[in-house]
Amino acid sequence: MQCPYCQHINSRVLESRSSEGGQSIRRRRECLSCKHRFTTYERVEFVPITVIKHDGKKESFDHSKLLRGMVRACEKTGISHQRLEAIVDEIEAKLQQHPRREVTSQEIGQLVLDYLRQENEVAYIRFASVYGRFQGIKDFVATLKQFQTKNPSSPTLWPKNTHNCSDQETSSSSIMTPS
Ligand SMILES: [Zn+2]
Repeated sequence: MQCPYCQHINSRVLESRSSEGGQSIRRRRECLSCKHRFTTYERVEFVPITVIKHDGKKESFDHSKLLRGMVRACEKTGISHQRLEAIVDEIEAKLQQHPRREVTSQEIGQLVLDYLRQENEVAYIRFASVYGRFQGIKDFVATLKQFQTKNPSSPTLWPKNTHNCSDQETSSSSIMTPS
């Protein structure tokens, strides 16, 4: 780090401490040549992320737009606004760490789905219905199946009915079977 007084390139660090609520590190330095002291800040570089939309148009990643879409999809699902904000923060941090500066809206949608899958099935299906651009009931069923295969232990939308039906079928077929 170049000294602001004499432009000497070597300095020693006298003190390092976290600042700006952990967003940066403040270092107190002393120039090895002129002995002047100065302060430097180190923080994670913020790089704008470009999103390539379905129609091929590009726009910058918009934190609040993604949050709005998720709030809409997750209405009355019991996921708190704070949790959704935290998810958007995590997604943005992931994108910031991504080596590519351009991502497709599908990739972002998939990231959101990965989070929602762990949170809530209704929110997952609703978000998938918007971002997955369902063409019809076939796509809906495919998404539901995808959810269920990746979450074999989680409750499904209609667990009781399915169970009752199959139970009845089993019992009635065993009655029907001649012994
Ligand atoms: Zn100096």
